[in-house]
Amino acid sequence: MTPPPHADRAEPGALRALAERAGRELEDAPALDVLRWAADTFGERFCVTSSMEDAVVAHLASRALPGVDVVFLDTGYHFPETIGTRDAVAAVMDVRVITLTPRQTVAEQDAEYGPGLHDRDPDLCCALRKVKPLEEGLAGYDAWATGLRRDESPTRAGTPVVGWDERRGKVKIAPIARWSRQDVDAYLAEHHVLTNPLLTDGYASVGCAPCTRRVARGEDVRAGRWAGRAKTECGLHG
Ligand code: SF4
Repeated sequence: MTPPPHADRAEPGALRALAERAGRELEDAPALDVLRWAADTFGERFCVTSSMEDAVVAHLASRALPGVDVVFLDTGYHFPETIGTRDAVAAVMDVRVITLTPRQTVAEQDAEYGPGLHDRDPDLCCALRKVKPLEEGLAGYDAWATGLRRDESPTRAGTPVVGWDERRGKVKIAPIARWSRQDVDAYLAEHHVLTNPLLTDGYASVGCAPCTRRVARGEDVRAGRWAGRAKTECGLHG
């Protein structure tokens, strides 16, 4: 589905100032308050991105802004369980799921770059199948929210609740940045929120099938992503 056009985009300098002020003022605010601020401030120029690992932030955002756009990147390499979670979210939650796809199918990419690019050059594969489509898909929004948490990995420890996305010129919101895994589990249980079934099948973090493995007890939650490689992030949050 093609993301909707949104008119009247705010001027980048004003957006940056807004992000910096909100970052100071909302650092300790509850996640739902952060999302209510985003809904009030940006309206339909605000969206949530979801990997469909779980639907916590989508659920929170739907409470703040019913019908909110939930953007999902379909890389062509997802587990069937992830696609099923997306479809279930679209069916039962008060959100509008928008699926972004890369310019090339997997077969077209294989034809141009050779099969298994994810094994030979995962940075290029992520750039083609994640970073570029998201950049294009977010073009019509002024602000986007993610489910990043500081406790997920050292690379995410400094995630601001509200910050400035320099690369895309947008306000970037991480409403559950301060949450722990226990906070997430408590929210899931209290609100009966959908989760990807792989989370109860040994996976602690769910990404593309070729680049995700189960983790052992005690391993870092993102240890199963690009295991055996120096790569720890797909480039969406750099
Ligand atoms: Fe490609 Fe793996 Fe990145 Fe998915 S996570 S886009 S398969 S390199």
